[in-house]
Amino acid sequence: MLSIAGARKHNLRSIDVDIPKDRLTVITGVSGSGKSTLAMDTVFAEGQRRFVECLSAYARQFLGRPDDAQVESISGLAPAIAISQENASRTPRSLVATSTEIYDYLRVLYARAGRPFCPNGHGDISGMTSTQVADDLARSPAGTRLVLAAPVEPDPGQDLREQLRGLLREGFVRARLNGELIDLAALPDELASAEDARLEVVIDRLVVRPDRRDRLGDSVELTLARGAGRLAAQLATPDGKTADRAYTTSAICPQCGAGVGADLTPRHFSFNSYLGACPACDGLGTLLQIDPDLAVPDPKLSYAGGAVALIESDPMEHWWGRWAKALATHFGIDLYRPWRDLSEEHRRLLLYGAGEELIESRWVSSNETGASESVSKRKWEGFIPLFARWHERSQNPDRQRKLERFMRTRECNRCGGDRLQPALAAVRFAGLTLPQILRLDIADATEHFAAVSADPDSFGLSPNEREIAAPALREIANRLSFLLEVGLGYLALDRRTATLSGGEAQRIRLATQIGTRLVGAIYVLDEPTIGLHARDIERLLRSLYRLRDIGNTVIVIEHDEQTIRAADHVIDIGPGAGEHGGEVVASGSPTDVIDAGTATGNALAGLLGPTKVRMLPRPARGQLRVLGAAHNNLRDLDVEFPVGCFGAVTGVSGSGKSSLVNGILARALRSRLHRANARPGAHAGIEGVEQFDKAIVVDQSPIGRSARSTPATYVGAFDAIRQLFARLPESRALGFAARRFSFNEGAGRCPACRGEGQVRVEMQFLADVEMECEVCAGRRFNQQTLRVLYRGASIADVLAMTVEEARAHFANVPGAKRPLDALADVGLSYVRLGQSARTLSGGEAQRVKLAAELARPATGRTIYIFDEPTVGLHPADVRELLTVIDRLVADGNTVVAIEHDLSVIARADWVIDLGPEGGAGGGDLVAEGPPLAVAGSTGSHTGAWLAKFIQQVRDRHRSAPATAPQAS
Ligand SMILES: [Zn+2]
Ligand SMILES: [Zn+2]
Ligand SMILES: [Zn+2]
Repeated sequence: MLSIAGARKHNLRSIDVDIPKDRLTVITGVSGSGKSTLAMDTVFAEGQRRFVECLSAYARQFLGRPDDAQVESISGLAPAIAISQENASRTPRSLVATSTEIYDYLRVLYARAGRPFCPNGHGDISGMTSTQVADDLARSPAGTRLVLAAPVEPDPGQDLREQLRGLLREGFVRARLNGELIDLAALPDELASAEDARLEVVIDRLVVRPDRRDRLGDSVELTLARGAGRLAAQLATPDGKTADRAYTTSAICPQCGAGVGADLTPRHFSFNSYLGACPACDGLGTLLQIDPDLAVPDPKLSYAGGAVALIESDPMEHWWGRWAKALATHFGIDLYRPWRDLSEEHRRLLLYGAGEELIESRWVSSNETGASESVSKRKWEGFIPLFARWHERSQNPDRQRKLERFMRTRECNRCGGDRLQPALAAVRFAGLTLPQILRLDIADATEHFAAVSADPDSFGLSPNEREIAAPALREIANRLSFLLEVGLGYLALDRRTATLSGGEAQRIRLATQIGTRLVGAIYVLDEPTIGLHARDIERLLRSLYRLRDIGNTVIVIEHDEQTIRAADHVIDIGPGAGEHGGEVVASGSPTDVIDAGTATGNALAGLLGPTKVRMLPRPARGQLRVLGAAHNNLRDLDVEFPVGCFGAVTGVSGSGKSSLVNGILARALRSRLHRANARPGAHAGIEGVEQFDKAIVVDQSPIGRSARSTPATYVGAFDAIRQLFARLPESRALGFAARRFSFNEGAGRCPACRGEGQVRVEMQFLADVEMECEVCAGRRFNQQTLRVLYRGASIADVLAMTVEEARAHFANVPGAKRPLDALADVGLSYVRLGQSARTLSGGEAQRVKLAAELARPATGRTIYIFDEPTVGLHPADVRELLTVIDRLVADGNTVVAIEHDLSVIARADWVIDLGPEGGAGGGDLVAEGPPLAVAGSTGSHTGAWLAKFIQQVRDRHRSAPATAPQAS
């Protein structure tokens, strides 16, 4: 048993908690109740602190000191590991395959058991042994005459005749030049140039006879030694037929000479090693290149009018102006004609150069004797290559950043995104190259390797290869199966980890941890069900059980009902948020929690008032149609969103929801309605945009990264509060304007921390540390400013209030109350007005944005687009959010949301279900219609779960008491 006594960090009220070891415990409670504080800031922080203390003093100095857990005692602690949702890796070199160690085993597999193939399509070039070469030649009919020759690489810089004489001096008599046998002592008068000569020196001539097998073997050895592993044989059989054969013992293509040419090591297959990386893109697979569309953003302009945006000042001046005029004269280009009216050829000449052609241009140079004009002929490279070179060589980051506005990341044209050198990218194992494997998704890779292991014969593996490959195959299969279990089968192995959602990154970490088979640890997970479809939650739970069953304690912070029901032990923190929370309101089995009648218990029991399933959808005022959606995995879909209704887009992870809603719909609406510079993903068209005058996209990106951005400033409540403070008699007497009460500017803020309340202390060898400002004690303002009070509270006291407290405090100030009410409506009554935006979760940030929009006057012609608005919400808060959505729709607006929460989907007017699976198995419209219709459709995962959910709701209504207790 893990026993915690007197935990009092943040809002925890000196609570005592027991967490059973080797069990799955869910810590739950309404948003802001203190469950994260208990799990992360207390259990995990203390476990990590003890773990760090076991390390040497040397190692400790690099880790920093974890925050004080503020707890009287903890017993039974073990090393703690947090499986967070933070996307740690931002480097483009980190892929799903590398971060899971699968790539390490693939490298071993390809180095040990891979078969080299010619990168130019000449087939298998895995070398034979010299015995195999001799055996193969010996199989020719007896009496066959053989010429054995070793390829020689002619030196193109040297005269070929001279090189042939050199061979004669070495003691050779004959050679083959471009397939023709020649006598080295009597060279022909005409010789090819060294550059296009294919030269082989003849080592031996012999006749195939069974009793001369040894002589053949010796000659083959000699020839291969001279030819660095290559041998060219000319055969003349007794029946008068002739043939040429090429052999190699190193992995070099006998036809074109391409190949790996060395013993392969795992490092050869690393795109982070100079041995393996494609030299053009340095193993990135992509290159930042100037995009002609961005370089010439407005083709209505002429060159002289500034069409080429790469040029920042007058296009007719400086070197570019001289070049442009020279090109105009030479090719007859009209520099004053709109770009789009120029011929394709003229546009190409300006942007990409004139190749080898010499162009006469006039250059003015000045020195002490005066200016002189010179005329010279030079090659023109083109603006795009010139500016690209500038970007590459510039030492000035500002200039580079400016040019990057015209650049786009494109696939490397040398390796085609393979990241590896061509010869290495051509090596195959069981028929596939390493880049081909990396392009598979986890489900397909699992299937491929399972098939290889089950029937190695059909993949052409020799018994030797089979044996070498077995250990690596086992490790790969293991890791793939864990990833499959946590529901990530749709992720491609070469997907960059920087592009994963927080939930996906967390599940990769979970799978990796299962793979390490660590025992006796405490794992802490924060809301692992975020972004998961009900089907995938079930899989995730199996993984958590697995982690537990190998002997670990698993602690999960979670709101999801399915997860809470599956827990061995539940700790419910509450009863409310902030000051009203921080206590253990229930603890025990899920049934115990139901019996306790807490908000969580009531949600589990289905007693939070009647859960509604929308039986009759609200009538649509019109349709918004996305036609031919083909972005990412979408399969040319036509999708309709009813106007004046609430539409939910559903489907398993990777099914294409985000591609449709964020990638196409949101971007297209923003660019059409707000002229935003957003490029929508591939689609044929959108109809019905004219029914809206505003599109509001509320996503989970952070609302600000500095301590200066707070929920109150973001929603506009703080502006009203500052104006109120400026109108107070004392402010008037002192001449304090609203500016005085800003911590971002003006004379009111603390001069030491400039209103941040914190100062950054630079530590020599450690990360910078933020400390409370000593001058203002974190209050952000100077003493005079703090003396102005409204109803007994200073401006600093106001910033320390929760939204709930502030609503009461400013009940008579409409300008402040409206945005504060909006924050409360979206379930954020527990956040503090001055809380740094950096401390908000993605879900909280999304709701702050939503609140800011709610506080604005609605036009009734607005379309709201949400990305999983229920993330991080307790079931009691989800209900509040549904009320907000219904209010928006009642006012005539349209709401579109990506959603997994069944209680929200059941309340939509229209459900658009994508899938059926993720990745390549998804991208289709599986079902659409009102919730009841989707629940009845076959082949839809969402439909199946929705049907189950609706049945549950009906059962509960039958058994629930007539007056259901309400959540607090
Ligand atoms: Zn070849
Ligand atoms: Zn490349
Ligand atoms: Zn200060």
